Amino acid sequence: MTKKIALITGANKGLGIEIARGLGKAGLTVLVGARSEERGEAAAATLRDEGLDARFLHLDVTDEDVVAAAVKQVGEQYGRLDVLVNNAGIALADGDWNTSELTVATTRKVFETNVVGVVSVTNAFLPLIRESAAGRIVNVSSEVGSFGFMTGDSHDFTAMQPGAYGASKSALNMLTSSWSKEFKDTTIKINAMTPGYTKTDLNHNQGWRDPAVAAGAAVNLALIGEDGPNGGFFQDGNEYFDTDVVPW
Ligand code: NAP
Repeated sequence: MTKKIALITGANKGLGIEIARGLGKAGLTVLVGARSEERGEAAAATLRDEGLDARFLHLDVTDEDVVAAAVKQVGEQYGRLDVLVNNAGIALADGDWNTSELTVATTRKVFETNVVGVVSVTNAFLPLIRESAAGRIVNVSSEVGSFGFMTGDSHDFTAMQPGAYGASKSALNMLTSSWSKEFKDTTIKINAMTPGYTKTDLNHNQGWRDPAVAAGAAVNLALIGEDGPNGGFFQDGNEYFDTDVVPW
């Protein structure tokens, strides 16, 4: 049987490399998307040293020309893409994370990567995903983009102002839902997930979840079968939710 091909954006560290590791262990060929050749090659080499089939793919999600070149390369090498995990993301704020302190420049930067970047990569790779027998797309979102979660009063995050970062993940959630309607009668499935508050550079390693564990929901959603969900928002082991379904 031909090996499935998975592309993970921002896969040189944090959750991205763990998602790549999980999919590599599941037997997929993993394309380690990274904007830095040095960091991406190093991550791919680490995964290869563990016996996984991992290759670096140059991919800055904010650069349309780079995205187009990546699509061309994957098309020429494999002719299709089975799994796309939109993981690359940034969290920026100004001052003390007060919404009133948010600058236009910061807002633009966050949306450019977390929202526009996902539209750019997903739509550019869609022709190759349509060549897969069962394309799977996973968007790495956040519970701080969930209106249901952030407007509740039962947890410590309620008081937090998620600012441009949270708003970008709300936008990503709506895009996920929107794409899912288009894919309804196809073999493609798209879902969003949140890893929960995870120890990575994004939060200066303040998160308490282990990235290898937190990556689990993304790996599972990338591997769902024909009977799997389309257009849902999920988590895996986050203490704030009773089920694996996250409120929009
Ligand atoms: P991280 O360790 O900071 O990793 C972020 C990754 O995204 C890095 O590989 C980074 O590359 C890459 N990236 C940033 N901008 C990019 C661009 N323009 N093009 C390509 N790659 C780019 O953070 P993380 O926690 O693993 O974050 C991964 C995802 O999880 C993000 O979408 C984040 O919003 C989401 N998330 C994280 C948490 C958490 O608690 N950690 C919670 C909820 C959701 P460089 O190394 O080149 O900067």
